Order: sequence, then C-alpha cells, then structure tokens
Amino acid sequence: MPPDSAGLGSPLFYQPLGSECQLFEHAYRNRLPLLIKGPTGCGKTRFVAHMAARLGRSLITVSCHDDLTAADLVGRHLIGDGQTYWADGPLTRAVRQGAICYLDEIVEARKDTTVVLHPLTDDRRVLPIERTGEQLQAPDEFMLVVSYNPGYQNLLKSLKPSTRQRFVALGFDFPPPELETRIVIAESGVNDKVAAQLVDLAQRMRKLTGHDLEEAASTRLLVYAANLIRAGCEPAAACEAALVEPLTDDPDTAMALREVILAGFGR
Ligand code: ADP
Repeated sequence: MPPDSAGLGSPLFYQPLGSECQLFEHAYRNRLPLLIKGPTGCGKTRFVAHMAARLGRSLITVSCHDDLTAADLVGRHLIGDGQTYWADGPLTRAVRQGAICYLDEIVEARKDTTVVLHPLTDDRRVLPIERTGEQLQAPDEFMLVVSYNPGYQNLLKSLKPSTRQRFVALGFDFPPPELETRIVIAESGVNDKVAAQLVDLAQRMRKLTGHDLEEAASTRLLVYAANLIRAGCEPAAACEAALVEPLTDDPDTAMALREVILAGFGR
C-alpha cells in the first residue's frame, strides 16, 4: 500500500493535506502526545483512524462530554455476583494494551477530568490508578491523541494552559478545493463534475459562517450530500437535507443557504 493512501473508498481512506501523517508518525515514535485542533467534520477522526491502522495499533476512542468523570476514563469498582470487581476504563485499557487513545472534543470534559492525563503526557508516562493503588507505566506503543474545535471555544470551554502545553499540536482546516473534491469522489463515488459543484458550494457557504452560521458546511456534510445524489436524490433535495437543515434552524439563514445552493446547482 502506498504510504499516503489507505485503500481508496475503504473506511480508512485518508487524503493527506500536508505532512500531517509524517508528523503523527514522528510523535508516535518519540512517545509524544498529540493535540489536533480543527472544525467539526474536517477529517480529524478519520486521520487518527488512518494513522492507527497504518501504525498497526488498535484505537480506543472516547467522545468527551461535560459529565465525563476521571472514573469514566480510568475505571471503577462495579458490583456483580455479590462482590465488587475492578473494571478498567477506556484510557486504562489503552495504556495496558499499548493502543492509541483518542479523546475527541476534549474541551467538553470537565477540567478535573483532564488532570488525570497529566502524568501520562510528560516523560513519566504513568497512569496512577488511585482506587487500586496501581501505577501503570505506559508501554512505548501507547499514544494519547486529543482533539477539539477551537470555533466552539469560549472562556469556560478552553483547554487549561497547563494541559494544552503538554502536547505537540496540529492545526486542521477544511481541505483546499482540489483535495476536498478528491475526498468527495473517493467517499461517495459521484462524478468529478458533481463533486466539484459541491465543493464550490461549500466554499461559498463557508463565507457565511460567523455571520449567520455557527458551524461551517463540513467535508462530512458534503460527503453526505454526495452520497444522497449518488443514490439518486435530486441535488437540491440532497443539499437541503445535508447542507441546510443540519446547519441552521433559523428560517432567514436557511433561505440564504438555499440561494447559494440554487446559484450553484441551478446553473
Ligand atoms: P472530525 O473528526 O474532524 O469531526 P471526521 O474525521 O469524522 O471529522 O470527517 C468526516 C468525514 O469527512 C469522514 O468520514 C470522511 O468521509 C471525510 N473526510 C474529511 N477529511 C478527509 C480526508 N482528509 N480524507 C478522507 N476523508 C475525509
């Protein structure tokens, strides 16, 4: 398999946008934790899955949320058959197995939860499990990867500076048009013309972001629209379902998006 493509059309196909695959590999080989910043749906999760497969490591993913506790990550005692037993959480499992642990949207997690990552993210590379008294030493193959969307950020939801400066970081954004077109084709099987039209549409829709739209039309949504079109859906209906309704509840903003779509597909 060529180094920068994992089977076009396979779930692990990843179109590199620059030298991020090399950087990931260097971080992995040097036992450095990695932080990936970028908007929703721009390819962060796919990138991590691709790299885990490429490096032959299993991947354990945790979608972070504001109820996530340190015990959810590390583990807890459970009761079964009249006795208590210890159940590893996903982070502990990843450390034991030498897997890649991916914490998606880390800023959603409470700050006291992220503190449990600290001893794992410096040169100690240990996970202290308070409840059992264990000090787990991470094997060389273990890697911690976290991601967040800086667009969501407000003062309450940012990564603690003391957490964030423990990582090497990669900034992601939506792919440039030529590469995004390739991704849409590979992921959906639409022809070049439809893919180029959708990407052009996304470029224009993204200009509305910030004014009326909280979130930009993502590569993920473009792939959804392309899949609907490939399945026989009218382009306008596909774009309505994939690029208007998921992005806004506001009727005026929806109208503005429809105008952009009409200008793109009405030609
Ligand atoms: P994020 O984790 O940033 O929210 P994902 O990794 O889930 O986004 O990407 C959403 C979808 O967009 C993927 O399932 C894939 O179809 C497509 N995609 C985005 N970027 C790429 C890329 N560089 N190569 C291949 N597919 C991509």
